[in-house]
Amino acid sequence: MVDTITQYERIRDEIDQAVAAVIRSGAYINGPVVQQFRENLAAYLGVEHVIPCANGTDALQIALMALQLRPGDEVITTAFTFVATAEVIALLGLKPVFVDVEPDTYNLNPQLIEAAITDKTRAIIPVHLFGQPANMAPIMELARQHGLYVIEDNAQAIGAAYTFADGQRLKTGAIGHIGTTSFYPSKNLGAYGDGGAIFTQDEELAARMWMICNHGSSRRYYHDVVGVNSRLDAIQAAILDIKLRHLDAYNQARIQAADQYDQLLKEEAGIGLPLRAAYAHHVFHQYTIRIKEGREKRDAIQAYLSQQHIPAMIYYPVPLHLQAAYRGYGYKPGDLPVTEQLSEEVLSLPMHSELTQEQTEHVSGHLKAALKQAAGIC
Ligand SMILES: *Cc1c(COP(=O)(O)O)cnc(C)c1O
Repeated sequence: MVDTITQYERIRDEIDQAVAAVIRSGAYINGPVVQQFRENLAAYLGVEHVIPCANGTDALQIALMALQLRPGDEVITTAFTFVATAEVIALLGLKPVFVDVEPDTYNLNPQLIEAAITDKTRAIIPVHLFGQPANMAPIMELARQHGLYVIEDNAQAIGAAYTFADGQRLKTGAIGHIGTTSFYPSKNLGAYGDGGAIFTQDEELAARMWMICNHGSSRRYYHDVVGVNSRLDAIQAAILDIKLRHLDAYNQARIQAADQYDQLLKEEAGIGLPLRAAYAHHVFHQYTIRIKEGREKRDAIQAYLSQQHIPAMIYYPVPLHLQAAYRGYGYKPGDLPVTEQLSEEVLSLPMHSELTQEQTEHVSGHLKAALKQAAGIC
């Protein structure tokens, strides 16, 4: 699914030198390397403040903590995402309110949000799933009308961008009140370990989030709020600072691989190809197709590919509103029909920055054979 080793081999000298320099410097936590990465990432995204932290889940949790919500307050999000998005809401004693997604972008459907807003709603967390931006213009407009915060979960879409109707183009993560990301190794900007970051244009939120990351302290051994310990270490920051210089090229390589899959698979009637929304610069964290005939056929195709040593993954097989851990919120099958249908149809093909035309052809060839076999033709 990913090839971090080949990617490393191409930048090995730079990385090895930077890691050795950190070790020799003795500054392993915070220090100049983390500071430099913060500044470079802020400039790349077009945000005022970048707060590095330990992982993408912490980033979401710290963002929510900074909003100073009360137990029982409601946060609207999608159930078609990695569990972390809803987990932090539940963990903080808030209530996740799941809204269905659009069938073509797999992202939060802005038209369904308003009906889910109550007098307890405080925030919306759109996820830019698989590298495609959620439709942010209507989401920001709804948030403005109802006085809600927007936290963008940008863990899968760093480097993606959204173009507004007036032509303004913003990077994802720089649009809402707060943006969060993950540097998990397989993400588009991946470390060689864990890492995450939080972005905002808002000075006050930035100060509060710094404090929360640092045990609720802005002055050593004085603690103003209950915080956590969440830091990006200097070795990961040094690695990320180098990979950030290559991020646009890595994303471009993903887009090129997606173009190849599109060309190779466009005539297959049994599958739906991933759409690129007109407003979106999609960075293809995943290339996710839909097997139109549903779960049984999808699972058979995945098993066939696996026999050919081609990894294909199901992100995500069980939507969050139907997971055992979230049963207490009262959702049942049928509540989010598009999300539920997607969970039965989606299949993500190998996708990374090092994919070659030969590999996309190899995968597509076997996928076509799998479709035929599943249809009982051969
Ligand atoms: C990966 C991911 C996270 C969590 O990131 P970690 O660094 O693994 O904690 C959160 N949200 C989404 C959508 C993700 O894909």
